[in-house]
Amino acid sequence: MKKFLSVILALVMVLSLTALFVGCDSDTVGENETTAGDTNAATDAGTTAPDETEKPVLKMGTNAYFQPYEFYEGEKIVGIDAEIAAAIAEKLGMTLEIVDMEFDSILTAVNEGSVDFGMAGMTITEDRLLEVDFSISYANGVQSIIVKNDSPIATADDLSAEGATYKVGVQLGTTGDIYATDDFGSDRVTTYSNGNEAVLALAGGSVDCVIIDNEPAKALVAANEGLKILDTAYANEDYAICVKKGNSELLDKINAAIMELTEDGTIAGIVAKYIK
Ligand code: GLN
Repeated sequence: MKKFLSVILALVMVLSLTALFVGCDSDTVGENETTAGDTNAATDAGTTAPDETEKPVLKMGTNAYFQPYEFYEGEKIVGIDAEIAAAIAEKLGMTLEIVDMEFDSILTAVNEGSVDFGMAGMTITEDRLLEVDFSISYANGVQSIIVKNDSPIATADDLSAEGATYKVGVQLGTTGDIYATDDFGSDRVTTYSNGNEAVLALAGGSVDCVIIDNEPAKALVAANEGLKILDTAYANEDYAICVKKGNSELLDKINAAIMELTEDGTIAGIVAKYIK
């Protein structure tokens, strides 16, 4: 069912993409393009080149505990999303500033205008589409299930089997939270403010599994002994950038930038740097 939803949403994105190709004035982006490839520079507010200070600021809301998409390296937020966002900002002739917040607060921040867009390995969902507008998708995600090595849970179906009482840990407000609450009921789901806290709860025995996106799951399992990811995926999804509902001016520019960065291989290069 969720796969179908994902396919339908992907189709919607392709249609809007087609509309964009037809309706977009290609002069709207790219005028201030430089050939400089150091996308990291733009993420580093305050230490940018002199002319960067002249550029308007583009604010991104994220939750920087979602490796390899966004995470701290020292005091700097790096990762796939951080670098793609910096490349988009560069195309828009703007300087990227990343604001770290709870994942659950990103849509509100976007709608209140405290940030210009949200980018956080965020899945396009029907409910979120009621609140914000999404760009074309720039990556795919998979909801995975993490268990202890000796867990009796072997597949996703074991969680929904007749009489199953397994407790599930999730990150608050994520699709893992939404789907698990739908499928197993809120009594069996415990929310945490990030994946790391959920995994610590799993290691400590408060929950029997954690449902979270696959790439962060890999990083969490690598960092914590005695855990594994089940082979069966729980759901497939598309990641996209969200903007305030109706902000088509920014959305069109972001979409055009994503298309260019896809076509010239920039996005694939960034992904390859973080996902081996
Ligand atoms: N892809 C998931 C979602 O959109 C999780 C995102 C996250 O935790 N940063 O809900």
